[in-house]
Amino acid sequence: MNAVLSERINNLAVSQTLAMAALARELKAQGKDIISLSLGEPDFNTPDFIKEAAKQAIDDNFSTYSPVDGYADLKQSISAKFKRDNNLDYKPSQIVVSTGAKQALYNIAQVMLNEGDEVILPAPYWVSYYEIIKLSGGVPIEVPTSVASNFKITPDQLENAITPKTKMMWFSSPCNPSGSVYSEAELKALANVLKKYPSIYVVSDEIYEHINYTNSYCSIGAIDGMENNTITVNGVSKAFAMTGWRIGYIGAPEFIAKACTKIQGQVTSGANSIAQRATKAAVEADPSVINYMVEAFKNRRQLVYNLLSEIPGFKLTLPEGAFYFLPDVSAYFGKTIKGKEIKDANDFAMFLLAEANVATVTGEAFGNPNCIRLSYATSEELLKEAIKRIKEVLQ
Ligand code: PMP
Ligand code: GLU
Repeated sequence: MNAVLSERINNLAVSQTLAMAALARELKAQGKDIISLSLGEPDFNTPDFIKEAAKQAIDDNFSTYSPVDGYADLKQSISAKFKRDNNLDYKPSQIVVSTGAKQALYNIAQVMLNEGDEVILPAPYWVSYYEIIKLSGGVPIEVPTSVASNFKITPDQLENAITPKTKMMWFSSPCNPSGSVYSEAELKALANVLKKYPSIYVVSDEIYEHINYTNSYCSIGAIDGMENNTITVNGVSKAFAMTGWRIGYIGAPEFIAKACTKIQGQVTSGANSIAQRATKAAVEADPSVINYMVEAFKNRRQLVYNLLSEIPGFKLTLPEGAFYFLPDVSAYFGKTIKGKEIKDANDFAMFLLAEANVATVTGEAFGNPNCIRLSYATSEELLKEAIKRIKEVLQ
């Protein structure tokens, strides 16, 4: 607490994914042999055709301010991508390009929420949803799930969470941190509840859309009757290994897109011009161009599943998408190992860092206090070594 700083910032939690990644980096710099499974970012390079588009953009002098909501031809390409991959009908006027999906989410919260508005968050949820909603005056309402329900909520749970104050529901599928993917039937069942409450808006975060090991993908906004109540969030960070380029985008009802543009115009202006040109190449490409990455993630998923399953007390699901495992490690709570008392998931994650030199993220950051999150966006060799170390310190 610092009295000079605003209440707003004093009440804001640090992003625990970024904090754990920073701590792992710091320990590494001190010479410790840390394996970081903390940050969710692909360990691949950005594909060459995207890098070429960026180089071309520099040579073509894309060096001035871009339109606040993104280049017109990029929005056209995103509109076509939404139709091609998601059967979503967003006109370019319904699209806003931002500095990462993170800014897109922040814009949405800022333009949609008034003080006290409730936002339903199926838990586990992505770490930043909670704080972004709070920062914007909203009240996150967590709906818990567990390994037993494959970390998915049921229509009844959703209906029970709705109150007269409910303004929105935010979720990701494939889910960060659980890897769960809602099927079309499951989404239709949730949509049937939501359609009874036309004042509720849904944020569907589809940034892991292409990192999906099931044979199908459904966007909730493409379900009949949901088109006017859904804001679809996506970006190039994960699918195209472009986390540092910082481009995300939304498709939304036009008045919401306009509002997001208005706030962005006061806060950051248009997103990076070169990165937007690179993004155009990425979204225009057939998604099969990243099959080699998805295949690698899929193989690692099986490897990690097999290895984690051998650790006593770890309860897990086989994730259907993204690149995370979220094992329930609550069997260890209340135990003392190597002289360290493990009360909760925070202690467990810190114990693994100190004793096994493996960085993970506590499930508390994602609204599931029984779990820890491991990212498998790293080499098979490091994954094997990391899980071997975890197994050994727990023996
Ligand atoms: N949503 C989810 C579910 C994520 O995992 C991430 C990863 N950082 C983001 C949004 C933000 O992505 P970015 O800002 O890199 O586009
Ligand atoms: N989304 C990634 C994660 O969950 C990146 C970190 C972040 O932006 O918080 O690890």
